[in-house]
Amino acid sequence: MNIHYNISMPAPHTHYFEVSITISKTKRPFVDFKMAAWTPGSYLLREYAQHVESYHAKANKRDLKVVKTAKNTWRVMSDNAPKFSFHYRVYAFEMTVRNNFLDANHGYINPAALCMFVGGQQANPVTLTIEPYHTWKKVTVPLPGSKEPYTYEAPNFDVLVDSPIEIGNHQEFGFKAAGISHKVAWYGLADYDQEQIKKDFKAIAEACTDIFGDHPCKNYLTKDYTFIVHILDKKFGGLEHLNSTSLHFPRELYHTKKGYARFLNLTAHEYFHLWNVKRIRPIELGPFDYEQENYTRSLWVAEGFTVYYESIILCKAGLVKNNKLRKSTADRITLVENLPGNKVQSVTDSSWDAWIKAYRPNENSPNTTISYYSKGALVTLMLDLFIIHHTKATQSLDDVMRHLYEEIYKKEQRGFSESEIKKVLELVAGKDLTTLFEKYIYGTESINYAQYLNYAGMELHSEVKETPYLGVSTVKNGKTLKITAIRKDSPAYHQGLNVHDEILSIDDAKVKDVAKLIENYEVGNELKVKIRRDGNIKKFLIKLGSNPHVTYKIKMQKSRTAAQKKAYKKWLRK
Ligand SMILES: [Zn+2]
Repeated sequence: MNIHYNISMPAPHTHYFEVSITISKTKRPFVDFKMAAWTPGSYLLREYAQHVESYHAKANKRDLKVVKTAKNTWRVMSDNAPKFSFHYRVYAFEMTVRNNFLDANHGYINPAALCMFVGGQQANPVTLTIEPYHTWKKVTVPLPGSKEPYTYEAPNFDVLVDSPIEIGNHQEFGFKAAGISHKVAWYGLADYDQEQIKKDFKAIAEACTDIFGDHPCKNYLTKDYTFIVHILDKKFGGLEHLNSTSLHFPRELYHTKKGYARFLNLTAHEYFHLWNVKRIRPIELGPFDYEQENYTRSLWVAEGFTVYYESIILCKAGLVKNNKLRKSTADRITLVENLPGNKVQSVTDSSWDAWIKAYRPNENSPNTTISYYSKGALVTLMLDLFIIHHTKATQSLDDVMRHLYEEIYKKEQRGFSESEIKKVLELVAGKDLTTLFEKYIYGTESINYAQYLNYAGMELHSEVKETPYLGVSTVKNGKTLKITAIRKDSPAYHQGLNVHDEILSIDDAKVKDVAKLIENYEVGNELKVKIRRDGNIKKFLIKLGSNPHVTYKIKMQKSRTAAQKKAYKKWLRK
């Protein structure tokens, strides 16, 4: 069966891509076309079929009957025609890395959200032609091109899905790093230092490659790597692909020192995914079932390891100083340890329930869930320091990554199982990790950070400020002040306030900012809180508690043993 996609955009300002899929060299009574429900790397059913309209099919000018047989399935009654085309339009106006976007300025395609697959034929090679809008001259696609203009080849549907596309008049530039050609498609910000980007991206690419000792693009399809970068108002996100990434970063932050540092963090994160996730992957994630949830308990490895490595890579690349690594670690401990959900949900449960929880947060999420990204990164910190300590700083988590890459991905061409990740960690550490896994990975016990940091001569400092505490978050909308979240076990939680309550007054005075007002009180003071709930006025007398927030800092110990110094150096990958 030959499968060819044609994507055009004759009126980009209306935000519609026109897609034709031509099927030939087969004769079938019917063919099912299916739109993916989700995109790899982002674990939520997004129901891309919702954006499809105006579908029809033709065989040699003859209309074919098309019947929808499921939410995402169109059955074309092809009636044994040797060649026919199925046409549909897709509304594309969501500027995220997970979806499609088209306007008068440019187009971005995440193929999972645009290109339907032919039922049962995902392994079939496909070709793709892009017809850019007539004034657009550039098409960036991380796929090998064919002789026809703007035409590309993918060995199967999975690879097509993993090839994001930028179309327009964006800037393109390149550089070499780790022996690999890198292309950058840059859109949205004219005022930037291209040489700086090349230099910093190169340092990141080389630091990552050094960890694994091998660059996957060396022998893969185009033999190069592509960055699609969008610098746009208030946009943040990244999505990893087999030989490329899409990065969204907010324009308002790009030119600040902190903002640019975050941009490099995002870049390091997505680049590390080239190995961890796109090659070293939980066995459940591939081949993908695009029509339903693909459950795994190992997203804490896929994302937690990757978040952990962001700072390690930047440190190794010389883009941040050693103390930044300590600071980002301490900030992450502060973030996670102050969330009540950290005591409720384990990182393995968080991974499994990503489909219904992580991507669908509500006002109670901080009380009941923990992110497999941030908590996953802290578990990774513990594992890395454990390995460094127990191997006398001869090994680190890098050796685990290399083992997973060489022995499981390259030799066996498959993902790792849930039990295998533990086995490989144990192999490298030379220690049994059963208790550690039960307590901190499958369980929610507090990690003894001080013990692990001590291995590398660092000490953990914590600070609690005795300040009055109510435990509500609010939002002001015009003249109304509403409660948007209530922290578990706070005075507000135990004494009857609810999310959605409108705060009318506190101690008979109108309130603009609850947090500011409370600063004028003391722990143990009582507040008269008047609220409106479902149209009824209610009064509460609420006794303020003491803010349980703990701030953590990591400092170097004053005197360190030779073993601690060696471990610290290993941790920094110096
Ligand atoms: Zn990620």
